[in-house]
Amino acid sequence: MEIIYQSTRNAQERATASEAILKGLASDGGLFVPTQIPAFTVPFAEMAKMDYRQVAYEVMKLFLTDFTEEELKHCIASAYDEKFDTGEIAPLREADGAHYLELFHGATIAFKDMALSILPHLLTTAAKKNNVNEEIVILTATSGDTGKAALAGFADVPGTSIIVFYPKDGVSPIQEKQMVTQRGANTTVVGIRGNFDDAQNGVKAMFNNRELAEAMKAKGFRFSSANSINIGRLVPQIVYYVYAYTRLLAAGTLRDGELLNVVVPTGNFGNILAAYYAKCAGLPIGKLICASNDNKVLYDFFQTGTYDRKREFILTTSPSMDILISSNLERLIYKIAGDDADKNAELMRALAEEGVYHITPQMREELADFCGGYATTEQTAATIRNLYEKTGYIIDTHTAVAASVYNTYRQKSGDNAVTVIASTASPYKFTRSVMTAIDTKYDSMGDFELVDELSRLSGTKVPQAIEDIRSAEVLHKTVCAKDKMQETVEKILGL
Ligand SMILES: *Cc1c(COP(=O)(O)O)cnc(C)c1O
Repeated sequence: MEIIYQSTRNAQERATASEAILKGLASDGGLFVPTQIPAFTVPFAEMAKMDYRQVAYEVMKLFLTDFTEEELKHCIASAYDEKFDTGEIAPLREADGAHYLELFHGATIAFKDMALSILPHLLTTAAKKNNVNEEIVILTATSGDTGKAALAGFADVPGTSIIVFYPKDGVSPIQEKQMVTQRGANTTVVGIRGNFDDAQNGVKAMFNNRELAEAMKAKGFRFSSANSINIGRLVPQIVYYVYAYTRLLAAGTLRDGELLNVVVPTGNFGNILAAYYAKCAGLPIGKLICASNDNKVLYDFFQTGTYDRKREFILTTSPSMDILISSNLERLIYKIAGDDADKNAELMRALAEEGVYHITPQMREELADFCGGYATTEQTAATIRNLYEKTGYIIDTHTAVAASVYNTYRQKSGDNAVTVIASTASPYKFTRSVMTAIDTKYDSMGDFELVDELSRLSGTKVPQAIEDIRSAEVLHKTVCAKDKMQETVEKILGL
């Protein structure tokens, strides 16, 4: 079955999978969604015998139907290799009654590697298939983790260059150091004076600027996106939910068909949307528990049916979730509106112009499988400390938001279904917040001293990604105002 993609805002704008990956965002500002979500064909018991790459192929081939078997297998093999520090790619770890799906074993130790290690291969394959000869300029806004993972994925990939914008004061010290030390002649990193939403809005505005697109074309460039608005990011993320289910099946933790709950620490709504697509495609998922930090716009949305971004932006210890405009929620809104692009376009117009929209009671009924929760900074720290004291397992701040929300959910609901918590970053990426949560005595230690102390406490090896930046030279120093992003891009590209 051929899967076609269309814009969430215009049913007439259609694309094949490879075209949608190349474009990133639809020309009307909408997001590409499959007109029909395919169903899994291979039985889960069968996939339980496969390795990560094989499961990836079985899942991705259903969504990326214009890629040949050879192309897709080549992309998968090039992505999920020794860049990951374990052959399992996404291992499960049980602690305190939940199964942590560790999605941080890739090159930049955050879950963004799961998709961004394959996106450059999907994109360059898509360019070849569609006879695109321009240089592809990847324009990316990051709340900290996407930026580094995209830089690592695209560095020195022929036919591409990458420009990353991050909020200068809105990422962790290690996140910033990881980005500004990035090598590769085709990479640029720019700090902006603003928050992640400013960065994301600036990037979206450039994508929708026709004049800029013309000027780019004249110079032999075209934009694409490595943000989770690109369907090439979303599809690879469906894989690990299937993988997790089949591992639990193989271990006898789940019976075939038994419902699995998933808890996802959420920012831009990409990761949890992938779990939802997996469920729509037939994976036996029960509850989809959406965990937010103090920027709890999604919690309020699930609670009330009103999405209201008009609120204070709070900097938390889980910076990759400091987001008030969750881009991928649009894909869910489109779906619960009955695949109605006009209705969705109207709600997105209200969000852009008034900062708020309300969904209908009928649409709310479609959200029954979702459950929102949030954790404050104090609850997040207490969760890290308690889990460490009880089990010795150390999780990062984002994962701890999810763990805290899960603990509350389990207590309140009495729902004891087998549960997977998406563990989205290595604790080494947020060492200071993690260590001071365990004991305030760590306040006075330096960042790399804390790294060594974390290694001692957790009994885990310091990841290569951290070793690499201990002494690395800062190569990117550009900082710009939030309304000067386009000028900065024009300067970089010589337009
Ligand atoms: C990006 C990120 C998130 C949020 O994921 P979304 O797909 O944007 O919802 C959570 N945790 C970490 C560590 C991240 O890097």
